[in-house]
Amino acid sequence: MQTAEIRRRFLHHFEQRGHTVVPSASLVSPDPSLLFTVAGMVPFIPYLTGREPAPFPRATSVQKCVRTLDIEEVGKTTRHGTFFQMNGNFSFGDYFKEGAVQHAWDLVTGRVEDGGLGFDPDRIWVTVYLDDDEAADAWHRIAGLPLERIQRLGKKDNYWHTGADGPGGPCSEIYYDRGPEFGPDGGPLVDTAGDRFLEIWNLVFMQYELTDVRSKEDFRVLGELPKKNIDTGMGLERVAYLLQGVDNMYEIDEVAPVLRRAADLAGVTYGKDHDADVRLRVVADHVRSGLMLIGDGVTPGNEGRGYILRRLLRRAVRSMRLLGVDAATLPELLPVSRDAMGASYPEVVADFDRISAVAYAEEEAFRRTLTSGTALFDTAVAQAKAAGTPSLSGEQAFSLHDTYGFPIDVTLEMAAEQGVTVDEAGFRALMQQQRDRARADARAKRTGSVDVLAYRRLLAEHGPTDWRAYDTLRTDSR
Ligand code: ATP
Ligand code: MG
Ligand code: MG
Ligand code: MG
Repeated sequence: MQTAEIRRRFLHHFEQRGHTVVPSASLVSPDPSLLFTVAGMVPFIPYLTGREPAPFPRATSVQKCVRTLDIEEVGKTTRHGTFFQMNGNFSFGDYFKEGAVQHAWDLVTGRVEDGGLGFDPDRIWVTVYLDDDEAADAWHRIAGLPLERIQRLGKKDNYWHTGADGPGGPCSEIYYDRGPEFGPDGGPLVDTAGDRFLEIWNLVFMQYELTDVRSKEDFRVLGELPKKNIDTGMGLERVAYLLQGVDNMYEIDEVAPVLRRAADLAGVTYGKDHDADVRLRVVADHVRSGLMLIGDGVTPGNEGRGYILRRLLRRAVRSMRLLGVDAATLPELLPVSRDAMGASYPEVVADFDRISAVAYAEEEAFRRTLTSGTALFDTAVAQAKAAGTPSLSGEQAFSLHDTYGFPIDVTLEMAAEQGVTVDEAGFRALMQQQRDRARADARAKRTGSVDVLAYRRLLAEHGPTDWRAYDTLRTDSR
């Protein structure tokens, strides 16, 4: 089943059940506390927290998401993209646990000819929060799930809150058993890596008012919310890779064409070598994320969203170089991603001239950087090796970053290839100092006053500067 068809079925299923179809919000988070939209619920935060009255009791959407937290997982697990789409259904004080379980079960196991997704009910497992008997009971009664396939997990996995006092509650996750060839029996409770039991859908039951929220697992329940909400998120790509019978989310119809093109360019056969496969999956993922982020107005830069985009594009280019492709690669790959995503997101087709110009300029800048920075890098490595301390200093890594725009992961990767380590802690300390200075400057600009503390820290670290300019200038002007 094509990804677009799964998307259509999801929205149709919930529209038929009284949900208003809401188009995806931008990847640039509508919530100012987040850089990117990380989940389907983000555009609905004002309604879920009760800050604003919801204009509809039920809503459904397929939300574009970016999670940079997952960047290191990309290509290594089967299921983590930096960009992905989250299908969701929401109830604002309307139906609650039983309704959520019923709607989800009907879609997941509904027959394909009846508009469902057709998953084998015998392969579905769920988790509920430790003491959430209501949810366990709903799964047992409504879905007919045997008790041994309803597992209980603690706050770390099965509780949701915003990280601050306010609404929260238990959640319940739906897993698909990919079979014994992917790992041992025992359900999601045992398979914490998620290789065999794949999490496809998370149902959040916003039920309580929480207080004294100190961490994910440390908080106090004040009482029941007057209006209880449902917030769910189903990974579209995860469902797609299961229904398309492929091994992972980078092999689905909306991503695989980029992966194949990258393999062709590199002259490698996908599926033959683990490291090359991971790189190809990283390329396919990052190129798509780049396309969608630029499509939503993000441009490469040195901080915030721009830096994340820069890092994704540069990591894609760098991965292609590691696969042996020295020529510019985005002009080959980005149009392929556009063609794969265009049917569902016509705006990336309409706006492709602008999107591609931004991406190609970034690749060109990075190629210049690599040419000049690599010379500095090679000298630094030669010096380190000659000195018998095969390690690059934090200053060297920082200067590669600051002067040549080498992201630290590029430096680390190149160093590893040369059998050299990098003082990463030293690098991070210098980055922190730079951030402190930038923050102090920004504050000075905003308020007309400076954060003296930042300067005090510098003074403590580096001692006073012997500043003679005034004396000299006075002498000169006399
Ligand atoms: P995981 O444990 O696999 O990292 P999660 O628990 O962090 O997933 P949720 O925050 O519950 O994910 O998000 C809801 C759903 O969105 C998940 O059940 C999954 O199907 C999907 N999802 C989450 N993160 C990603 C990602 N990086 N790439 C693709 N799909 C994702
Ligand atoms: Mg996760
Ligand atoms: Mg999870
Ligand atoms: Mg989850």
